[in-house]
Amino acid sequence: MPVSEAPYTRKWQHTHTRGHESLVTCGYCGRQVPKYKTFIKFRGFRITDPTVLQQVDKRYIHTFSQKIYVCPSCARFHRIVQRGRTARKKHLFR
Ligand SMILES: [Zn+2]
Repeated sequence: MPVSEAPYTRKWQHTHTRGHESLVTCGYCGRQVPKYKTFIKFRGFRITDPTVLQQVDKRYIHTFSQKIYVCPSCARFHRIVQRGRTARKKHLFR
């Protein structure tokens, strides 16, 4: 039985039972936060040297970036915004 008749598949559902949420470590403050609350940010060093950019294959540049999870308070502090995930969060951070 479908939950809703919305014409799109919902992602990022909070499917875990209470108390069994997967915790991730915030990349900024190191706090343990539930994964569904976090924001995903890619942190890495940018190659700005054009000579190095010519030597490095562009396909490999993304391997330098690191995926980090950011807790909501740090996301607000660092102005990381992922709009549109839920209608309620759309009105936050604005
Ligand atoms: Zn944090």
